[in-house]
Amino acid sequence: MFEIVFLGTSASAPSVHRGLTAQAILAGEYRFLIDCGEGTQRQILRSGIGFKRLNRILLTHPHLDHILGLGGLMSTFARWESIEEVEIWGGRATLDRVSALLYGVVLDFERLPIAIHMYDLKPGTIIETKDFSVSTFPVTHRGPGCFGFTFQEKARRPFLVDKADALGVPVGPERGRLVSGQDVTLKDGTVVTPEMVLGAETPGVKFVYVGDTGRTDNIRQYVQDAHTLVIESTFLDTEAEQARAFGHITAREAATLAAECNVQSLILNHVSRRYRERDIVEEARRTFPEAYVARDYDHFVMRRGKPVEKLSAEAKQASEAYAVAEERAGEDEK
Ligand SMILES: [Zn+2]
Ligand SMILES: [Zn+2]
Repeated sequence: MFEIVFLGTSASAPSVHRGLTAQAILAGEYRFLIDCGEGTQRQILRSGIGFKRLNRILLTHPHLDHILGLGGLMSTFARWESIEEVEIWGGRATLDRVSALLYGVVLDFERLPIAIHMYDLKPGTIIETKDFSVSTFPVTHRGPGCFGFTFQEKARRPFLVDKADALGVPVGPERGRLVSGQDVTLKDGTVVTPEMVLGAETPGVKFVYVGDTGRTDNIRQYVQDAHTLVIESTFLDTEAEQARAFGHITAREAATLAAECNVQSLILNHVSRRYRERDIVEEARRTFPEAYVARDYDHFVMRRGKPVEKLSAEAKQASEAYAVAEERAGEDEK
């Protein structure tokens, strides 16, 4: 299961209702921040998810509307005893600009109380855990070093409780051993194998995040069969020429990509102040009905075998992510 909390959904400059690009990705005990536009730290606080463990930062490209918030965020982290290490992933050009911002302006290098690790992105897998992997692929925007990210949950075989009960497998460590692939011998001498209690393999969620991009033809292989695709939608089709000139795409192009690559759900962000949200939704839905335009603080959950779900305000309060944040909010005040 992956979750995404949109912290800022506006392109190039903020609007009254939309902050600059940033989103938190929640993946079990891991949390990632994708991009960090100006004002992100306040958006994090207002969203309720809190700063804790939000120290893996993935950057799509070096434009200021995607990185300027790192100055403020790192300044806060640097005074924060609980965050000792921060990982920043980006293309070379992005890291150069981030380094200039952090070390040239924001942080006093001599007394830096946190370790900042910067990783130069290359296409391929960058993080692998027992439950999921994160990989990156090149995207064409203005300038070099622009990347998209794929979060791939691992395939899993469900444990069939009914079958285990029927076979007399006791509740306890025996079941854990079966899940991990080992045979179990019951008290009466019966041998139970994993084959007998595990169901058919179900593929994990594939979640693809594409930041600013001027092309869709060269990312199709990465987007193919995604459970959810989040992608920019800076222009409408009436301004397709301008989109081309600035290295962006239109809502219709984003929708066409989703439709042609067997994507289940499409969420558009990085939208321009010049348009009404409903015009963007309408243009996208003409080609791809399962299209949404993200608003700041929208929280979507992606579960295997289920369509993407947008959490209501009540569900957000009940969700574990917020419970953890709240429980820790007390500590954060110290
Ligand atoms: Zn941008
Ligand atoms: Zn850009």
